[in-house]
Amino acid sequence: MTTVTLAEIEAAADRIAGHVRRTDMDLSTSLSERAGAPVHLKHEHRQITGAFKLRGATNALLTLPDDARARGVACTSTGNHGRGLAHAASALGMRCVVCMSKLVPQNKLDAIAALGAEVRIIGKSQDEAQIEVDRLVEEEGLTDIPPFDRAEIIAGQGTIGLEIVEALPELETVLVPLSGGGLIAGIAAAVKGRRPQARIIGISMERGAAMKASLDAGGPVEVEELATLADSLGGGIGLDNRYTFEMVRTLVDEVVLLGEAEIAAGIRHVYFEEREVVEGAAAVGVAAILAGKVKPTGPTIALLSGRNIAMDLHRRIVNGANSLEEAR
Ligand SMILES: *Cc1c(COP(=O)(O)O)cnc(C)c1O
Repeated sequence: MTTVTLAEIEAAADRIAGHVRRTDMDLSTSLSERAGAPVHLKHEHRQITGAFKLRGATNALLTLPDDARARGVACTSTGNHGRGLAHAASALGMRCVVCMSKLVPQNKLDAIAALGAEVRIIGKSQDEAQIEVDRLVEEEGLTDIPPFDRAEIIAGQGTIGLEIVEALPELETVLVPLSGGGLIAGIAAAVKGRRPQARIIGISMERGAAMKASLDAGGPVEVEELATLADSLGGGIGLDNRYTFEMVRTLVDEVVLLGEAEIAAGIRHVYFEEREVVEGAAAVGVAAILAGKVKPTGPTIALLSGRNIAMDLHRRIVNGANSLEEAR
């Protein structure tokens, strides 16, 4: 089986130390009172670039051989992966090309270009953008760094799991936002590697949960991509998935799905009770507790995975909008 080991994640942690932030973890009084068990928040939205994806991107670039580093890297992205890769490449003085569809909002595009990456707008979907990445690999020798289904990416994201176990050795349950599964696969391998009895729960949105549909089908399937407040959780897992489907199937104990209003309530709770700004994808752990879909029975951690939400959308949600339509 193609998997990522605890040893690979420990090696990644040594490799990326000094390039990424070790993020804080704090007890949440408001959530602990509601849940009747201690709930801690891992503040990964405070990572450089505003999301955890810098960890995997940095690990992937540091493990490339010198000749590949000299030629540069490319990726498709809807936001956080492109931003993480652009930052990591710039820090290492490497060429980076981020290929995006016309649908990616201007603010995300500007943030990536500001980091020195070449931004190419290709077609109307991620698949069309991938054609340009494939061409760059073929004709210019760039290395494609995908957002989740690569061992070095999974190992890099898994370093969050090591930090969680070190901060709270008596942990019982970890709540992790789930899309392509690089994040949860790495965290599950790290946490269960050190604490085999721990429970790992993945949380996605009802609108287009590709990993959940694939688990139910017994293999990778495509789902329709729908607009959601948890935009960073959109997209498929790849029909040619190599790592994350198997790792999620064997290491993740449960997958929970949330509606848009539940995600909005999570964003509001994190804002009013914790005084933190997070994006929809990052609020799902808190939202699952508030919705009663996860019931903590012992020390529980909710991972806040990113904060890259458009601030006008955030303001409308804080003012009561419960969906993208209501926020318009
Ligand atoms: C990418 C992303 C996720 C999901 O990570 P996967 O590895 O695709 O499962 C969760 N939260 C945020 C903020 C992200 O950018």
